[in-house]
Amino acid sequence: MKDRTLLMIPGPIEFEPAVLAALGAPTTSHVAPDFIEIFGQCLERMRQVWLCPSGQPFIISGTGTLAMDIPAANLVEPGDKALVISTGYFGERYAEILKRYGAEVKILHAPLGGIVPPDDIEAELKNNSYKLMTITHVDTSTAVRVDPRPIGKLGQKYNVLTILDGVCSVAGEELRQEEWGIDVVLTASQKAIGVPPGLALVMAGPKAIAAWRARETKVYNYYADWDNWLPIMEAYEARKPSYFGTPPVNHIWALHVSLGQILAEGMEKRFARHMKTGDAFRAAIGALGMKQVPTDSAHAASTLTAPYYPEGVSGPQLLAKVKEAGVVLAGGLLPAIKVAYFRIGHMGAVKPGDILATVGALETGLAACGYKFKVGAGLTAAQKVNQGLF
Ligand SMILES: *Cc1c(COP(=O)(O)O)cnc(C)c1O
Repeated sequence: MKDRTLLMIPGPIEFEPAVLAALGAPTTSHVAPDFIEIFGQCLERMRQVWLCPSGQPFIISGTGTLAMDIPAANLVEPGDKALVISTGYFGERYAEILKRYGAEVKILHAPLGGIVPPDDIEAELKNNSYKLMTITHVDTSTAVRVDPRPIGKLGQKYNVLTILDGVCSVAGEELRQEEWGIDVVLTASQKAIGVPPGLALVMAGPKAIAAWRARETKVYNYYADWDNWLPIMEAYEARKPSYFGTPPVNHIWALHVSLGQILAEGMEKRFARHMKTGDAFRAAIGALGMKQVPTDSAHAASTLTAPYYPEGVSGPQLLAKVKEAGVVLAGGLLPAIKVAYFRIGHMGAVKPGDILATVGALETGLAACGYKFKVGAGLTAAQKVNQGLF
């Protein structure tokens, strides 16, 4: 038997062979003409993937957490008010990051598996003058998806900068940064962007850049300071050599390949494919008689699914059995329910066959754990969605 497993976790994901080949190619100089050209093209391609023609892209070595840190470091001055709309673990993390830069943070907590109603956000914005607010498009700890549209509108109405943590959404969930009026959208390479961990990717709109330029205090984080990075991004886009910190050359070659694949598929097709994949997984989980963390499928993510373990089934045993059947899934992340649920990531290069392999392995695992269900029920439900039969 071929020794391979399918990695179906919410990042890192399964990567395309051409992307991995770019990572293994001989490393070029960071000022080689061919590297300058592909770096410049990566920046141009990011605007197309983010659907943000007026945005300023940044490609910086680091993880998604650095991508969260960058707008916080550049936009927050001590005493600024920040509103965090939290739908799980990563919302709480954003609050911690903002506090480090001296922001006065108020958190609006969604109920477990739910969202914060836009009316509650509006009431908060009416009563206080915030400089910025953050939302997590898909919180990877709950699989809850927030609709950025009403929040972008509220940001514009009340003149509050909106920062969207899109680490688990960009290039998967429908997202139109400029049309929806979101000021900053950030992600990391290892999720739906389809490149192994290592790149923090940030798109700052004109209002965010203007707010940064209008600062009265310096940016306290040297590495994250746009003053260091903006000239570098501008130089690469002008196809000129420059240096601040050595760029992760191979990762950027790999990003060039992956962004090319994403744009070749087309953003509309890609959004639709992710939606269908999410539908297929939720249908399968439902057909297997299992509950899910999001309380309503209207706000359930397309990029991952978060089922609760059925009663009487041991979580660690189930995940081990599913792995024996060839598929790696992720355990829980949200502290309050960590041991009660698990997560299936399905973003990026997921094929209909991967959905069936994953649901099949899950059924095998459930059966091995003594769970009573109709064998094939999950597969049939997924297959119906795959074939457009629902
Ligand atoms: C994964 C993730 C992060 C953190 O990214 P790291 O690369 O692990 O630092 C932040 N926010 C969301 C929504 C994520 O899914």
